[in-house]
Amino acid sequence: CGIVAYLGHREACPIILKGLRRLEYRGYDSAGVALLNGDLNVFKKKGKVSELEAYIADKNTHANVGMGHTRWATHGEPNDENAHPHYSTSQRIAIIHNGIIENYAALKTHLQQQGHTFHSDTDTEVFVNLIEEIQKQNACSLEEAVRLALHEVVGAYAIVVLSKDAPDQLIAARKGSPMVIGIGEGEFFIASDATPIIEYTNEVVYVNDYEIVVIRNGQLEIRSKEDVSQTPYIQKLEMEL
Ligand code: GLU
Repeated sequence: CGIVAYLGHREACPIILKGLRRLEYRGYDSAGVALLNGDLNVFKKKGKVSELEAYIADKNTHANVGMGHTRWATHGEPNDENAHPHYSTSQRIAIIHNGIIENYAALKTHLQQQGHTFHSDTDTEVFVNLIEEIQKQNACSLEEAVRLALHEVVGAYAIVVLSKDAPDQLIAARKGSPMVIGIGEGEFFIASDATPIIEYTNEVVYVNDYEIVVIRNGQLEIRSKEDVSQTPYIQKLEMEL
């Protein structure tokens, strides 16, 4: 029900966890993080953000790129497996997702026939495998695979995608679920609302439906679903901390 992502020069995990706590008011049943640091590691737990924190306390969470999620289950009961982030079959791509993919059952059958394996009952795990399959078939960039996948999914989403093969990149997109980008000095934030961002920067871009966000090489780019570059509208927030 809430998403937070970070790319920059600081430790990503503490920023993400703090952000998830700021989004707790939205309600959730599980929480998780994915951290990209050469490896792509996912840690997730049913329950509160504090339970996730206890679980990862003795893990290596060092990374400057990562994302976190609080889940409000729609497909699949609240448990550790169904919590986000979800991996693709190769475990090279991970996704967090708010919303519902309505045509996930048909997509899942198709992906299973193509050799993809599933470890959860979620609609979300279908989304990340679809991205992986499209990238494999088209030998394209992660951004292009996400864009093409968006043409096949029916439903609502705010997603962030990380790939082991695209370090220093965050790809995000939305339709029907909120998403804000924070622009700092050489660092970027993505969240469901501005509360996790405001202590670091007041420059934000509200993402519109059908837009794809590409954070790469220290630059923010917003593209349409038809792959046309959009000019980001940067707003200055005035908010009490
Ligand atoms: N439909 C997804 C799930 O059930 C995402 C739910 C959410 O928005 O947190 O896992």
